[in-house]
Amino acid sequence: MESAQGQSTHFDVLIVGAGISGVGSAYHLQEQCPEKSYVILEMKDTFGGTWETHKYPGIRSDSDLYTFGYRFKPWVGAPIASAGEILKYMGEVIEENGIDQHIRYGRRITGCRWSSDDNLWTIEATRESDGEKETFTCQFLWMCQGYYDHEHPYTPDWPGMDDYKGLFIHAQVWDPEIDYSGKRVLVIGSGATAATVIPEFAKTAEHVTMLQRSPTYFFCSENRNELADRLREIGIDEPTVHRVVRTQIMYDQDLMTQRCQTEPDVVFEELKELIRHYAGEDFEFEPHFTPKYRPWQQRLAFCPDGDVFQAAAAGKLSVVTDTLDTFTEKGVRTASGEEIEADIIVAATGFNLSVMGEIPFAIDDKPVDWHETVNYRGMMFTGVPNLVWVFGYFRASWTLRVDMLGDFVCNLLNHMDEVGAKRIDVALRPEDEDMEILPWIEEENFNPGYLMRGIDRLPQRGAKPEWRHNQDYWREKEEIPTTDLDAPEFLYDGRSRASTTEALESAG
Ligand SMILES: Cc1cc2nc3c(=O)[nH]c(=O)nc-3n(C[C@H](O)[C@H](O)[C@H](O)COP(=O)(O)OP(=O)(O)OC[C@H]3O[C@@H](n4cnc5c(N)ncnc54)[C@H](O)[C@@H]3O)c2cc1C
Repeated sequence: MESAQGQSTHFDVLIVGAGISGVGSAYHLQEQCPEKSYVILEMKDTFGGTWETHKYPGIRSDSDLYTFGYRFKPWVGAPIASAGEILKYMGEVIEENGIDQHIRYGRRITGCRWSSDDNLWTIEATRESDGEKETFTCQFLWMCQGYYDHEHPYTPDWPGMDDYKGLFIHAQVWDPEIDYSGKRVLVIGSGATAATVIPEFAKTAEHVTMLQRSPTYFFCSENRNELADRLREIGIDEPTVHRVVRTQIMYDQDLMTQRCQTEPDVVFEELKELIRHYAGEDFEFEPHFTPKYRPWQQRLAFCPDGDVFQAAAAGKLSVVTDTLDTFTEKGVRTASGEEIEADIIVAATGFNLSVMGEIPFAIDDKPVDWHETVNYRGMMFTGVPNLVWVFGYFRASWTLRVDMLGDFVCNLLNHMDEVGAKRIDVALRPEDEDMEILPWIEEENFNPGYLMRGIDRLPQRGAKPEWRHNQDYWREKEEIPTTDLDAPEFLYDGRSRASTTEALESAG
């Protein structure tokens, strides 16, 4: 897909990636900074990012679309949506707002260099169609490239993989042509991906086995929102339904997050009760469904209509909780010696972290080591001017942060214009001198495997709220919109506005 576009190569803002973050950011930029020119560079030949990459059976959201959808475009379907429905929604946002004219597809960014003399980023891209190099310049880089490698999923290096005679595939690179009907399918993993593919496989496969190292929490619920249905029934308009249902869901999620911390055992009993509703009263939770971590330390795996447990109750799904020891000719053998035979083995083992799209960055010819930077609220980085990274939430919908940072970046860009600044940096303040510098991940707070594996490549954080991405939407929704852009951690053209104002006051 190639969209109508001019041939300019200089823009005020360059957005990397046409996933849900890039498209949402473009919308906010157009709305709130209409004078700014911009381009989105996307390496694929279409939009959608995550929702375009993944093609495994049943691919769907595990968040509700009232909050995973943008705040500005009402969601009118069932809360949990298929990848196809999400792409349709994004396609409408792009078309309704003329964003397509700004996207250049098939451009893989291969380098970003900042020049302090020119206050400009230079971006190198390779055209995927013919390998031609292209160079762009921009004042501001809006990094919406996500957080994982879209082309190389994470597959542990298990022994004996070459011996296996069946079909082995990672869910991230699933080919929809694969026919699994009547086959024995083994799914390795127990997260959201496993929870999605298992009920789909179970519909026509001979049998499905889930091999997990450790159990996951599951949240079973009907795929409908009662409040939305009722509001529609009484004739409320869609924008109002969207706003009210978003508010309700966020309220409920906030309550749930707090309860997971204050009364995790009660929450777990409630989750079990929901499972029993689909799997039967005598469903056995030990040992396969009793996780060792607190609910919501990792994302809860959502189960629309308890589909995983319906498959288990129907005898179509078995679960094995054990470590994979080796592949064999016919399947795998676990550490306890059990052999699981399968015609198809699907790895649902997650991602390889990709820090800033693995693009080499340089500031005035010095390569950037992201691990040497400290993050400002998970979006800006010390020593790296005029750049924001959109990294969303785990416990709440990712897109809530896309909207929130959209407002923030536009306010920042408008403020730079007001004060006549060409460069914005974040910098530790004198009072941060003794602040403890820690890894980005707060293991107690959130700890997905792909982040833990890449912890040495991620930026660092400080102990104070400004210098961490706390993953707490409910706190950030108060703090980020009210940020004082003249606070001393912001340097405009290398100077703090706070110190400039003080100096002017004392001088005169
Ligand atoms: C299967 C799956 C289901 C998920 N479900 C949910 C959910 O229900 N709720 C939730 O909140 N989160 C969910 N997530 C997390 C999800 O990834 C985010 O919510 C969101 O889709 C990320 O969007 P993004 O635009 O930031 O990044 P991505 O979707 O990763 O898009 C980034 C884009 O940038 C492009 N890009 C990257 N590097 C370059 C480069 N060098 N040059 C040019 N282009 C580049 C990529 O091609 C891609 O199109 C899910 C993730 C997966 C994998």
